[in-house]
Amino acid sequence: MDTMNVPIFIGNGKMEYRNIPVPNLEDENDVLIQVDQCGICGTDLNIMAVPPAHKAENNIVIGHEAVGKVVKVGSAVQKLKPGDRVVVAPRMNCGECFYCRQGLVNQCIDYKTIGTTVNGAFAPYLCAPQRVFYKISDNVNNDNAVLFEPLSCVVGAMVKASMQIGDNVAIFGAGPMGALFAMVCKAMGAGKVIMLDIAQSRLDFTTDKGIATASINVKSEQWKSELFDICPFGVDIAIDAVGNQIMSCVEISRRGGKVILFGLRPNDSQTITQYEITRKDLSVLGSFVGLNPFEQTIKLLDSNTCDFSTLITHKLNLADLEKGIELMRSRAAMKVIIEMD
Ligand SMILES: [Zn+2]
Ligand SMILES: [Zn+2]
Repeated sequence: MDTMNVPIFIGNGKMEYRNIPVPNLEDENDVLIQVDQCGICGTDLNIMAVPPAHKAENNIVIGHEAVGKVVKVGSAVQKLKPGDRVVVAPRMNCGECFYCRQGLVNQCIDYKTIGTTVNGAFAPYLCAPQRVFYKISDNVNNDNAVLFEPLSCVVGAMVKASMQIGDNVAIFGAGPMGALFAMVCKAMGAGKVIMLDIAQSRLDFTTDKGIATASINVKSEQWKSELFDICPFGVDIAIDAVGNQIMSCVEISRRGGKVILFGLRPNDSQTITQYEITRKDLSVLGSFVGLNPFEQTIKLLDSNTCDFSTLITHKLNLADLEKGIELMRSRAAMKVIIEMD
């Protein structure tokens, strides 16, 4: 039997390389793909943190931001055939729980996820049910396609934000997710797009690449007055792509504005001044992975409106996965992609 040497998550922030069999179809609905690239996600950083900030099963292959080519399909698979290029929507909802039965599939309480509960895509091959795969056209190159999953989460949040043309937007967190927000906001016709972070290198990256119209380092004592110099009444939409910036978002929102809470920090808690939210008539919305944003994301990628691949700063081999995770954790990298060979 053919084997592949892949990193296996063994818990406690550790992984080890093992030879495991190349997966094969186990069900008539299964599809086997050869993985071309898989992006390192903030979720992977959280899985590898000690203590973990995101739960994953031990002894599985992690990785869920994959682009690849179909190799084999089960007998019940009709929409995909060998040779098709595909991306992965990793969460598989159960279809039967309280939330699934009212269409809130992103809130499923009995879901499985590629790269968290079942084997993922930091591997040369991935076998999964056909429903996780979305076909991409030749318009979309692999360097853009590999950003499909994080982009889908941003698309889901922006649907919820119902941004208006000309809206001024502030985004806390100038990492890969914040940068994707900025690109999508601009494509949607935002006015000013202002990035806020404490990492000057990331702020410089987003302004140098023309992703944001302005950037502010929140380490500066005057960061709020810098923001109000740009938007005297505050921003129409403030997005927290960090996970603990709710009050900063509230403070810089204009009256009647919107705050979108997107970053996930399960171990953090904040003090909230509720009066500010009420007095300013703010709408504060949480957004978790988006409600079926996948077809929309495929269309956005297919349009080639944005070159999302600008965010990729490093491409590494599978043997260097942990190095890639460290590069992202230290913020030395924006987006790190693992290439299979
Ligand atoms: Zn991801
Ligand atoms: Zn469910």
